[in-house]
Amino acid sequence: MGTGEAGDEKDSCKWFQTLKACHQTRILNHTMKVPLLDLKGQYSVIKDEILKAVHEVFESQYFILGPRVESLEKEIADYCFSKHAVGVSSGTDALLISLMASDIDHQNTVITVPYTFFATAGSISRVGARPIFVDIDPETYNMSPECLERTIDAMPRAELARLKGVVPVHLYGQCSDMDPILKICKDYNLVVIEDAAQAIGAEYNGKRAGSMGDFGCFSFFPSKNLGAFGDGGIVTTNSEKRYEKLRMLRGHGAHPKYYHSLIGGNFRLDAFQAEVVSIKLKYLDIWTRGRQENAHKYRALFNSAGLSDVVELPVEKEDRHIYNQFVIRVKRKRDDLRGFLNDAGIGTEVYYPVPMHLQKCFSHLNYKKGDFPVAEHAASHTLALPIYPELSDAQLEYVVEKIKAFYLKKS
Ligand SMILES: *Cc1c(COP(=O)(O)O)cnc(C)c1O
Repeated sequence: MGTGEAGDEKDSCKWFQTLKACHQTRILNHTMKVPLLDLKGQYSVIKDEILKAVHEVFESQYFILGPRVESLEKEIADYCFSKHAVGVSSGTDALLISLMASDIDHQNTVITVPYTFFATAGSISRVGARPIFVDIDPETYNMSPECLERTIDAMPRAELARLKGVVPVHLYGQCSDMDPILKICKDYNLVVIEDAAQAIGAEYNGKRAGSMGDFGCFSFFPSKNLGAFGDGGIVTTNSEKRYEKLRMLRGHGAHPKYYHSLIGGNFRLDAFQAEVVSIKLKYLDIWTRGRQENAHKYRALFNSAGLSDVVELPVEKEDRHIYNQFVIRVKRKRDDLRGFLNDAGIGTEVYYPVPMHLQKCFSHLNYKKGDFPVAEHAASHTLALPIYPELSDAQLEYVVEKIKAFYLKKS
């Protein structure tokens, strides 16, 4: 610094010209960037509100739980049509604390699906219980009530005595078929923990995700529809007793302070994240509508692209799908398509490439390839496309155009 100023200026000018030229060529080549998710547009809208609120948290020097977390808990309980909510440190911890509050331990088994994010099955194992998997519905990718019933019906009496709960996952933003699931669970006296991490505000027969079972588990991970600026989560429940137990477990099982009748953990949510989530909650319905409109536009674009023999679109079976993800299933060459789209500047993701029963860490459960054919097929044939509300029509068109180009080129 400080030497050869004139030269520097000339260099930076040249650099700027190059940048502009590059930009121009990009426009001329019609290359467009469509990231899988871009939160910057959303942030620009709420930035002033967030900065003001965060500044107030700094000034208060009150960081953990407290009035900001309590008011968020009320807002989320209302939004989810639930009586209570307990803010926790993540969606994973929401699952973990719900299992702990149900007294599920090494003597128990818990049924869930093999096609989900790891945390669902991982939390069951972390409380010492054994996960039992049941296959999914091929259209919604959610727990198949028929498979659930068949699995329970086939259980010998001793195994049935160990079974204590069911964790249906509302995958991609659509509720599981809860009526038959709840009926089976009632018949067998099983606790129902809804993994609603991807489904805040999703509805089933007029009921909201997280309000139908005994516990509803939500995540504020930034890529979820209601994301914090870091980790966070919340548990909803309609039971006063469960609510009290969750609150105790969140703070090492103490009540009053330093008197522990339960062994809990540190599962606390902080004021800063609560403030961010609370501000975002006011916009959630608008953003959800944006996602639904994008899904609608994708459907129209795919229909006129004539790809129906190779691309299957998401099936909307239940009320109010909130489209945390827009996941297509392709007949062939999923991974090549993903690479092709990546080269064209389009971000996609595979949720999830290895179903839980085939994960190395669950090999002791003795499942094998072929045990859950629907989950395995989904793992190797589905692809999530960008769906966030700020996407432009041109970007949506570009995604479908490129998918069409790929299959025309290859077939
Ligand atoms: C994101 C997610 C979780 C875990 O949430 P975190 O906040 O990341 O711990 C659990 N289950 C499902 C289905 C998820 O998508």
